[in-house]
Amino acid sequence: MGFRFRKSFKIAPGIRLNMSKSGIGMSAGVKGFRITKRADGRVQRTTSIPGTGISYVESHAAGGSFGDNQATEATETPTHKTATCDKCGHRYTIGKANFCSQCGKQLF
Ligand SMILES: [Zn+2]
Repeated sequence: MGFRFRKSFKIAPGIRLNMSKSGIGMSAGVKGFRITKRADGRVQRTTSIPGTGISYVESHAAGGSFGDNQATEATETPTHKTATCDKCGHRYTIGKANFCSQCGKQLF
């Protein structure tokens, strides 16, 4: 059967929901600028100049961002306090485990 399922709904002005065999996609935008979330998870950004036919398409892999807000937050590395197991002398991180990984003694 050459049956193909594809349907698109206009859910709000400028927002369209596309349903196809591969899943649900969504596209939203205004004249000259459009963001499309495809069913496979890829996001496509289309920028066009109305009336000229010129458009610029960028697509990004699933889970990727547009790069503009990719500023990596400086993650503070917590200083792990370590102690030594008084039974076997194994060094452990306080608060990480309740028992010594070497001898099994309960840690406090
Ligand atoms: Zn131990």
